Amino acid sequence: MDKVKKREQWRKASNKYRKTIKGIKNKLKLERYYRKKYRHLLLEFWGNRCKKCGFDDIRALQIDHVKGYGVQHYKELKLNRFSYYKKIYEEVKSGSKKYQLLCANCNWIKRFIKNENTPRRKLKNVVSPKS
Ligand SMILES: [Zn+2]
Repeated sequence: MDKVKKREQWRKASNKYRKTIKGIKNKLKLERYYRKKYRHLLLEFWGNRCKKCGFDDIRALQIDHVKGYGVQHYKELKLNRFSYYKKIYEEVKSGSKKYQLLCANCNWIKRFIKNENTPRRKLKNVVSPKS
């Protein structure tokens, strides 16, 4: 009898566990879905083009903070990525000029020139490559 009871308890516990894991996975999926949706909306708002060079492959387009420090801003807000994209979209739609669309190249070049978001250690390696 005890063995059966224990097994039943274990089964219930593992079912519960599986449900939580599933829950997290679904949440991630949902987050990814909304992130994609708002990214798409933002890209469309800006005409799916890099502001600087006109590059139009959406796979390499990135939402950039005009004044930089996007990572810092993101951390300060303490939002998940879904809420973050939603917030940007709402701000941009209401006329905010804080963000712009850049391709990966322009974004990295801008970051390099303005020394944004890049740890010094990494920058050093870029400035003085081994020849
Ligand atoms: Zn560009």
